[in-house]
Amino acid sequence: MDYAYDLDIAIKPTVSVPKLGYSYGHYTGSGNVLFSTGWGILRSVLGDILTRFHARRGYKVVETPILARTTLYKVSGHIDYYRENMYIFNVKGEGGELEEFALKPMNCPYHILILMNLIEKYRSKVKLPFKIFELGKVHRYELSGTLRGLLRVRGFTQDDAHIFTPKEEAVNAIVEVFEELKELYEKLFHIDVNSSNIKLRLSFSNHEEIGKEFMGSQEEWINAEEVISKAASEIKSRYGVESFIGWGEAAFYGPKIDVVAVIEEEEREWQIGTMQFDFNLPKRFRLEDLIREVYGTDVEIYMIHRALLGSLERFVGVYLEAFKGRLPFVLAPIQVVVMPIKAGSPLDGEIEDMANSVMDVLLNNDIRASKVETTRTSIGGTIRRLETTIKPPIIVAVGPEEVKKRILSIRVYDYKARRPRTIREPYDDEATALLSLIDKMEAPVRELAGVSPRLPVVLDYIS
Ligand code: ZN
Repeated sequence: MDYAYDLDIAIKPTVSVPKLGYSYGHYTGSGNVLFSTGWGILRSVLGDILTRFHARRGYKVVETPILARTTLYKVSGHIDYYRENMYIFNVKGEGGELEEFALKPMNCPYHILILMNLIEKYRSKVKLPFKIFELGKVHRYELSGTLRGLLRVRGFTQDDAHIFTPKEEAVNAIVEVFEELKELYEKLFHIDVNSSNIKLRLSFSNHEEIGKEFMGSQEEWINAEEVISKAASEIKSRYGVESFIGWGEAAFYGPKIDVVAVIEEEEREWQIGTMQFDFNLPKRFRLEDLIREVYGTDVEIYMIHRALLGSLERFVGVYLEAFKGRLPFVLAPIQVVVMPIKAGSPLDGEIEDMANSVMDVLLNNDIRASKVETTRTSIGGTIRRLETTIKPPIIVAVGPEEVKKRILSIRVYDYKARRPRTIREPYDDEATALLSLIDKMEAPVRELAGVSPRLPVVLDYIS
């Protein structure tokens, strides 16, 4: 079951465009997903949360172009090592000369340019560790055989950050990233990050191969791996999370740590965050020379690439599969469905009024709500239909009993227990109890982002 397509998140590329005769994929090119209205909502809210979350933790938020002249990737080395995975094209200038451009496969080269500019202007006032964040859209020409739904696509957005840290503060920087990941996964995604379901995979070099397969000096590698090991044991002592070493598994340009989750039901591993050291880019951009000049020759700097979610598109795809199409309350395209239950009795007018008044309160509070009518005999069928299609985290039933007793029957999805439960709450004209339930569901996200991440939407075509 591909849940993304049922929630109007993405359009299935194999489906035909009406009237035109070809599939959507025919027009977008494979691996370029055409995201729809559900994604628009979830991506905006998620982006807002992630931006605020990082800004509040001292990351400098930037935005860089989605393309660059290939001159940039000559400096970074991507042209030599990564050319066949890049979209490269020529543009004819006014004088008829050809200029070569590439869609950005990674954000790092631009982030280094920004840091170099800041250091040049503000010198040592630029404090280290320096942390730079971007929701960066990148394009990579992956082999078509590896493309699959949202899980492997050719254009995607990374929650990408680069940390430039003095060696002495690197252990702390890694532990902080782990804590950020833990906070984000627990408070936004209802995924516990603890010793029972999380491991750290440390990808190290093979010491005999340093200088050959692994770029850099023996000393650089051993120091960096020592920093990673120290950080792993600090994480173990604080949170009990175990780590294991994969010798020889490092990238040629540096060792890394992956945070790996085990999805219980499927007994499958899911890489949920990564921190990658890089000895290559700081040298190629001569950032090292600039840092030595400004901060002193004895300062040794590590560059760490890090992502908590990785590709947002892939993350949402994996999440939808793991949670059977369910999204966290703040991200769900439709958060609440109000369900008037008509009885064919004189009470129907009051039922309608009460349901409308609940809808008004929700919409006035920027909650994404929709109304779906049902009858006494078809309640079960209506709920089943909602639970297999739009999967709203909250369904509010308003029937004869609710009107008579002035209550709301609220079916709310319990993310911990992974099933819905029904509660009855008193009803007043401000729907106070319902709003305070919603407020409670949003509270952990407010701790991350500082505000209620509400994005209203007019859902006129859903019912
Ligand atoms: Zn990077």
